[in-house]
Amino acid sequence: AQRLGVKIYNFTEVREIKTENNRIVSVSTDRGEVLTPIVINAAGGYSGEIGKMAGVEIPVYSQRHQILITEPVDPLFKPMLMSFSRNFYCQQTPYGSIIMGFGDPDEPKGYDIGSSWQFAREMAQKMTAVIPLLKEVSMVRQWSGLYNVSPDSQPIVGEHPQVNGFYMAVGFSGHGFMLAPVASRLMAELILKGRTSIPIDKLDIGRFERGELIIEPSVV
Ligand SMILES: Cc1cc2nc3c(=O)[nH]c(=O)nc-3n(C[C@H](O)[C@H](O)[C@H](O)COP(=O)(O)OP(=O)(O)OC[C@H]3O[C@@H](n4cnc5c(N)ncnc54)[C@H](O)[C@@H]3O)c2cc1C
Repeated sequence: AQRLGVKIYNFTEVREIKTENNRIVSVSTDRGEVLTPIVINAAGGYSGEIGKMAGVEIPVYSQRHQILITEPVDPLFKPMLMSFSRNFYCQQTPYGSIIMGFGDPDEPKGYDIGSSWQFAREMAQKMTAVIPLLKEVSMVRQWSGLYNVSPDSQPIVGEHPQVNGFYMAVGFSGHGFMLAPVASRLMAELILKGRTSIPIDKLDIGRFERGELIIEPSVV
């Protein structure tokens, strides 16, 4: 995008979105106002807030998910391990560290991105039960981020039906890293050509009102 002349303003906060007659008019940021007929809401955990700025309710919520990484060890396993019955995922990185996480069913909705001792302990219990060798391995870092979750745990992609020019790529429900390349390509196609090379109609925001949810069961 930059090669084609796009200017990217990092560390610039969107504070207000102006609309007139159900059309996007401008975006106010902490570095000034940008006149534009198009906004793409790709704000992850804050996409609901961006929706409110444009005057619409997007049915998503945010929720902390924690993760940790161990010191590097000799190769133990190659594939990503994931268990829905035991509720965990883990993978050894090429460097040898093992990265792991689980979804806490008691995690409240919200914007907390702190790290808890309880998570570290429960994670260690889960993983050492499956890979006892890990009892000898030290954890070196722990952090967290937000899942932005939709009612069917599938992304909401497309233009909002009530606000012309307000596009959404939100609600990735913990799968947005792997979907980001195709989602961004499809958003570009939709905006530039008015159609997409892969059909995305079923991922529109209207599916919730129509009762046409596409439940994604595989979310850790
Ligand atoms: C612990 C954990 C593990 C995960 N594991 C996986 C995985 O294995 N596979 C996978 O596919 N996905 C995974 N995910 C999910 C994945 O990280 C997200 O789905 C993905 O990052 C969403 O990308 P995004 O670009 O939509 O949002 P984000 O990456 O959250 O980016 C949103 C951006 O919007 C910016 N923003 C927000 N509000 C404003 C504002 N008002 N003004 C300006 N900018 C704003 C933010 O600063 C941020 O840079 C994981 C998430 C977590 C927390």
